[in-house]
Amino acid sequence: MIRLYVTSDLSPGAAVAPTLDQSRYLTQVMRLGVGDALLIFNGRDGEWRAEVAEVLKKGVILKAVEQTRPQVFGPDLELIVAVVKKARVETIVEKAAELGAKRVRLVVTRRTNTDRIRLDRLDAIAEEAAEQTGRLDVPVIDDPVKLEAVLDGWEDGRRLMFCDETGGAPAIGALTAEGPGPWAILIGPEGGFSPEEGERLRGLPYATAVSLGPRILRADTAAITAMSLWQAAVGDWER
Ligand code: SAM
Repeated sequence: MIRLYVTSDLSPGAAVAPTLDQSRYLTQVMRLGVGDALLIFNGRDGEWRAEVAEVLKKGVILKAVEQTRPQVFGPDLELIVAVVKKARVETIVEKAAELGAKRVRLVVTRRTNTDRIRLDRLDAIAEEAAEQTGRLDVPVIDDPVKLEAVLDGWEDGRRLMFCDETGGAPAIGALTAEGPGPWAILIGPEGGFSPEEGERLRGLPYATAVSLGPRILRADTAAITAMSLWQAAVGDWER
């Protein structure tokens, strides 16, 4: 069954206007017509069975019929990742949505080679990935900000899995002892963290430095690996 992320409120009989791109996808790619069924969700009201109510030149109108699943949210996991090349950032966002991150925070570090970031494109990638996973929300993607600003404004109670490739950090087992709750994973840029950044990160009371093995991974591989290990250690893979 097709699943679409929409922004409108969902209730029995509610009329929903998907975007023009989504309308084209429904009618021209998937060949849906009036009366055909699909699933829709908005990140607030759960998942709904809907029908195509009208096919107009300026897009289709859907009608929400009945709720198929109540709203649930996955674990409270943020991925904080230094801006790397555009294509790798896009992969990271897609995989973060698939692997259950709630938010992706792009950061600028001392060694970041800033590539042009198109947030609208990253949002669309996150939405499409969420649609195919079956999750009921879409991760929020933040505009890049300085790493220092993120650390300065750190939220009480959130722990940090700092992916440290410089050697000496323990493997993922270090996390299991800490258990679930609000977490963030931090992945550095292509050139790694500067010595000053590394020193600050290792001294943070809420941070656990973790090694992802003896090989240096590219940022996208590191992000996917770290999220998978985190989910297995303290996330929702056991549920
Ligand atoms: N320091 C390297 C350099 O000079 O290019 C590599 C940085 S690596 C491409 C980017 C980020 O991925 C690192 O900052 C770290 O957060 C994460 N990472 C890569 N391999 C890792 C490993 N084996 N253990 C922990 N983190 C790793």
